[in-house]
Amino acid sequence: MSAAAETIAPSTQTQEWLASDHNLLIDGERVAAESGDRIEVQDPATEAIVTTVAGAGPEDIDRAVAAARRALKGEWSTMTSYERARVMLRFADEIEAHLPLIAEVEVLENGLPRMISEFTILKFGAEFMRYFAGWATKIHGQTIPVSPMDARNGETLTYTRREPIGVVGAIIPWNAPLAMAILKLAPSLAAGCTMVLKPAELTPLVALLLGELAHKAGVPKGVINVVPGYGHEAGAALAGHPDVDKISFTGSTAVGKDIIRASAGNLKKVTLELGGKSPFVVFPDADLERAIPGAVRGCFFLQGQNCMASTRLFVHEDIYEPMVEGIAAMAGGMQPGPGLDPASMLGPLISEQQRDRVMGYIDAGKQSDAELRCGGEALPGKGFFVRPTVFGQTNMEMKIAREEIFGPVMCIQTFGDSDLDTVADEANNTIYGLSGSVWTKDISVAHRMAAKIDSGQVSINCHAAVDPAIPFGGNKQSGWGREFGQEGLEPYLKTKATTVLF
Ligand code: NAP
Ligand code: MG
Repeated sequence: MSAAAETIAPSTQTQEWLASDHNLLIDGERVAAESGDRIEVQDPATEAIVTTVAGAGPEDIDRAVAAARRALKGEWSTMTSYERARVMLRFADEIEAHLPLIAEVEVLENGLPRMISEFTILKFGAEFMRYFAGWATKIHGQTIPVSPMDARNGETLTYTRREPIGVVGAIIPWNAPLAMAILKLAPSLAAGCTMVLKPAELTPLVALLLGELAHKAGVPKGVINVVPGYGHEAGAALAGHPDVDKISFTGSTAVGKDIIRASAGNLKKVTLELGGKSPFVVFPDADLERAIPGAVRGCFFLQGQNCMASTRLFVHEDIYEPMVEGIAAMAGGMQPGPGLDPASMLGPLISEQQRDRVMGYIDAGKQSDAELRCGGEALPGKGFFVRPTVFGQTNMEMKIAREEIFGPVMCIQTFGDSDLDTVADEANNTIYGLSGSVWTKDISVAHRMAAKIDSGQVSINCHAAVDPAIPFGGNKQSGWGREFGQEGLEPYLKTKATTVLF
């Protein structure tokens, strides 16, 4: 074994965990799928099969939903909000205590660089859980002065209660396995709901590991059930299940529309976090020392497999050359490699299929009038690596500028001294509306432009500012509803109004 290979081997603890059974987690027990199906988990950096997990079918989804329904009436419902918060805080502690294990498992199933995994485990694992633990004790209704049935003042009392919405089905993608699971689990636990979580077929391991840690922290059995499986089987069964009250979905816009159709049967409530093609608008007075690394991080974080990615740059023509040159130099210098190697700055794409899809877009870009300024190729050998790719002189007629690529591809176009509305119209010329950023030192331009961008989130002189407390979600075809912050709790609650006539 070479020295390099030795440094990237996972720890003994991780190897032992990987060798465990990885059955479904239903009602606090690890159980095989009724069909006996197994799904292989591949390391996208080496193409090696890391392990296999049970693959849930519709019968298993029935079992998991029944367990979640029972748990909604069990011990969980009798716990006080303080007790719920304490369980969540212990869950956060378990996440932090298992940082190396979670990081290695996440790197092996997803490919992201270890440093980024560790950052997300702390920020979107432990900190996110603690933030929502704080909300558990602050959920309350109102008293409302009313006069139904012509009762006189003081003869009635109307109050509202915020109740857990019930059994939640969560369906998540593979691009950030830990964060995607925690973003669903934390508000659900704070609200007192129970959950059936279906991770992506490509990255089921971190979700199973989180399920184990939740039970270790004292989450009662049945409150969190984890059912890896295929989208068209397990996911569709969950989305269409008559005994699920709400679906919280993160994934593609196309599947989001399927979820809405599937949920119509029992009119379950639905929130959707979908795709994006976010604008990054740079005015001529912007600080390029910040805008250049901001654009590179914004676009190539998670190899561009990131819904908020700054994939469409609008750069004033006066600063176009220095901006593009700076971006190409920095992006071209990102060292690709397996995530467990500390030298790697860029992991592989998630799968062969995803690599081929992204390369199809890159080929379309090469055949267009856009100019290729860096990258444009996949790495030979094992692993699904694609070099960070930057196209200049793009426009919104081009496929690469219009469609969500979900890979390391940036499209840059210019604007001249036009009014802000013209720039905003071009930035908003997309079916998506998730994120966006404005770069300028002029505060009035910054705030006016931020107001004009049609997306759920806009950042000024940074891109995609995310924090547990900042509401996050999409306009247009980027989604329904918001996650994060107080607004992120709302979809997990329902209001009951009670009136007493004295
Ligand atoms: P996807 O194909 O939509 O899959 C997402 C999840 O849905 C997976 O668990 C998938 O299972 C499941 N699924 C697929 N078909 C289904 C069906 N008919 N019924 C129910 N569930 C089904 O998305 P992806 O390719 O994994 O992820 C990339 C997309 O996610 C991008 O569009 C990206 O922008 C979006 N995303 C959005 C956010 C956000 O917060 N807005 C965050 C991250 C990613 P399988 O794994 O078996 O396919
Ligand atoms: Mg998919």
